[in-house]
Amino acid sequence: MRVAVFSTKPYDRSFLEAANGTHRHTLTFFEPRLTNETVALAQGFPAICVFVNDQLHRQVLVALAQSGTRLIALRCAGFNNVDLAAAQELQMTVVRVPAYSPYAVAEHTIALMLALNRKIHRAHGRVREGNFALEGLLGFDLHGRTVGIIGTGKIGEVVAKILTGFGCRLLAHDPFPNPAVVTLGAQYVALPELLSNSDLVTLHCPLLPKTHHLINETTLQHLKPGAMLINTSRGALIDTSAVIRALKSGRIGYLGLDVYEEETDMFFEDLSNRMLQDDVFARLLTFPNVIITGHQAFFTHEALMSIAETTLSNISDFEQGRVCANVVTSAWVKK
Ligand code: NAD
Repeated sequence: MRVAVFSTKPYDRSFLEAANGTHRHTLTFFEPRLTNETVALAQGFPAICVFVNDQLHRQVLVALAQSGTRLIALRCAGFNNVDLAAAQELQMTVVRVPAYSPYAVAEHTIALMLALNRKIHRAHGRVREGNFALEGLLGFDLHGRTVGIIGTGKIGEVVAKILTGFGCRLLAHDPFPNPAVVTLGAQYVALPELLSNSDLVTLHCPLLPKTHHLINETTLQHLKPGAMLINTSRGALIDTSAVIRALKSGRIGYLGLDVYEEETDMFFEDLSNRMLQDDVFARLLTFPNVIITGHQAFFTHEALMSIAETTLSNISDFEQGRVCANVVTSAWVKK
């Protein structure tokens, strides 16, 4: 099948080309993100392949449908950037990669927790400057601490498993409790109870209309003072301005982010020679107890191999009229 691949980085190209040996699709790689301005590049391609920050709102989908696109292959798990109702109306099929390596994201989550707690980012800078003083670097034992996991699907379950090894007590919140997480000893509780009893809180639920700004001014009132908040899921799960106020007051003691609600125009690009335009993001960077990574939690060798293979298999299933288990429908957004 002829596929226009948007938001291509060199690593996307090499993993997709390696996996394409068995599928033999005709892949055309485009560096730009898919937007209103770049949608013309997809002219005449029956399939497009996109990533987390490509824009698939109604206007773009209409333009795609008019120029012959019938399949949207997401090379990610999240689908919050696609207007699924519009895609359905336009009779376009949307497929995704529901699971590639939950370990990649879970392990990055733990990396943020450990780095924030033991202040590795600050220690690294100090030692390089010959400053071996320990003042300001005091951490705590993770052993015996309570961690609240919001969203206990594939990634949340791996996080729970790893934290069990550290000797943490686990609280969980999810409308669909996961028996494997219960077996690990986690106790499912309501969100306010999880927030007020956890020393660390980590987000692993999808971004849906009802999870938008799940962490906001009101829910933050429940947070245990000085707790650690980690978000490796989707930026808009938290209201960043409310979180900044909570950092200033000390309500949040540590913040680890791999995602940011306004990341679309920044992440995945080298902007080091440009002026940062986002003042909210700039404020976040001033806190000594904040670590931000640029949506790299998924970025492991194993995950990229798996993403490439599943994406191309999804396209092959569509081309050959086979039932594809990875189709996303608009009904999911109402869940
Ligand atoms: P999953 O579908 O296996 O699990 C998501 C869980 O969230 C489900 O159990 C669901 O019931 C639960 N959930 C839904 N609404 C909720 C709510 N209101 N409160 C609490 N829980 C709720 O998904 P997954 O594979 O574990 O991925 C989780 C999220 O991680 C994805 O949606 C995606 O946004 C994010 N992600 C980030 C990266 C990255 O690189 N940073 C990579 C992959 C996935």
